This record gives sequence, structure tokens and C-alpha cells, in this order.
Amino acid sequence: MSTRLILATRNQHKVAELRAILGEAGLDVELVGADAYPEIPDVPETGVTFAENALLKAHALARATGLPAVADDSGLCVDVLNGAPGIFSARWAGKHGDDLANLDLLLAQLSDIAEPHRGAHFFCAAALALPDGTERVVEGRLLGTLRTAPAGTHGFGYDPILQPLGETRTCAEMTAEEKNAISHRGQAFRALAPVVKDLLG
Ligand code: IMP
Repeated sequence: MSTRLILATRNQHKVAELRAILGEAGLDVELVGADAYPEIPDVPETGVTFAENALLKAHALARATGLPAVADDSGLCVDVLNGAPGIFSARWAGKHGDDLANLDLLLAQLSDIAEPHRGAHFFCAAALALPDGTERVVEGRLLGTLRTAPAGTHGFGYDPILQPLGETRTCAEMTAEEKNAISHRGQAFRALAPVVKDLLG
């Protein structure tokens, strides 16, 4: 019988992405999203690093369900802002999840910053926690530069201004498949597959 693994998200795209990656790695696990357990409340992200937040979410879910749990935490880190917005990426302009306001504020903050200093990366920490407290964390990053104006309509968040290194397009001008192949989350999830295999396989 396959092992059940729960991912701390209600976003079905994330579930499908990790499920595909675990499948490609030949793992016999049944991955479900947190919406399969609607009675379990979301955990406040009180950590000060991506890894801490991912671990908080994974441990809480593993404890509540008695199942191995995976959680990820991600954001945009801007070189000239010493890594900000970082863990505050989703609420940089004050209100959680207001992608447009977050993007506008960041563009305004960088309006005077010249091209050579517009380096940034998306970062993702992905954690696996077992009900007995065992934990592992892996990470992924997508390096790039920030445009001075948004371009593209795909994706979400800061995708319209992050142009990956070696690319002429922003993440919002790529298809979901193209972005997943190079993204911080794709890299972290691919790094997690052998860890899942090791602990659960
Ligand atoms: P989460 O940890 O996946 O919820 O991401 C937190 C925030 O980071 C999002 O609300 C976005 O603002 C930003 N972010 C994370 N990943 C991406 C991405 O792939 N593209 C654009 N923005 C992202």
C-alpha cells in the first residue's frame, strides 16, 4: 500500500506539481493537499526564516494528522534590499496577498536603482516532518534581475518583474511548465524527492 503524504497548501497547482515530481522519482506515495483535512487550522508563520516557517507548518500538520507532512515557504529576495521582502513577500505593502500593491511598492523602492544593481532571486524552503518529530529541509533558488516595469500575464506575485538569468522574458511571460522547470519551488521539490524516498520509501 502506498504511503500517504500531506502537503501544507490548499493550492491544487502546488499539489499537482509535487505529485508529478514524486511520481517522476518513482515514489509510491499518495500526496494530498491540506484541504483534505479542512478541520485543521492554518498555522501562523511566526518564523524569521523561510526554513523556520516551512518547518513550523510541516510539524503542525504532521502532529495534527499523524501523517508525514511537507510544507514550503517562499518569497523574493532583493540584493540591494539585503534580502527583503524575503519572508514578508506576501504582505510587503501591508495587506497579505495583495500582489499588485506589493509589486508597485517594490518597483517604487527600486525606481532609482540602475540595472547592474537590480539582482534578486526567488527562494523556496521545503520541509518534510514526520509525526515522531523527524525533520528535513531542502531549498531552491531562481536567480535573476528585476525589470523596471511589469511584463507578462502568467503566474502570480512578483513574476512580472523577475527575469531569470539567461532569459529575455520575465517569469510572467513563460508558461507554467517552463517556469516550473527552473523555479525555486521546482528545485526544492525535486531536492525533496530523494529525502522522501530515504525516510518513507
Ligand atoms: P508562498 O510561500 O508560496 O505563499 O509565497 C509567498 C509570497 O512570495 C507570494 O505571495 C509571492 O508574493 C512571493 N512568491 C513566492 N513564489 C513566487 C513565485 O514563484 N512567483 C512570484 N512571486 C512569488
